[in-house]
Amino acid sequence: MKINVDEERCCGAGQCVMLAPEVFDQRDEDGIVMLLDAEPPAEQHGPVREAAEMCPAAAIRLSEGT
Ligand code: SF4
Repeated sequence: MKINVDEERCCGAGQCVMLAPEVFDQRDEDGIVMLLDAEPPAEQHGPVREAAEMCPAAAIRLSEGT
């Protein structure tokens, strides 16, 4: 799995950080998403998929595969 985040779309809602805090963080100054791990280990894939579905701005894109 490979993750891309679109900082232009992100509205700083923070769902992704609550669901997968090892993969996503938010900038202190404006709450915009920061990607901590673009290719997370398998145990993170479930929460990351959930985060991508829950993101109100559809700012999280996943490429499945390896
Ligand atoms: S859930 Fe989406 S909009 Fe909210 S902080 Fe994460 S990427 Fe940004």
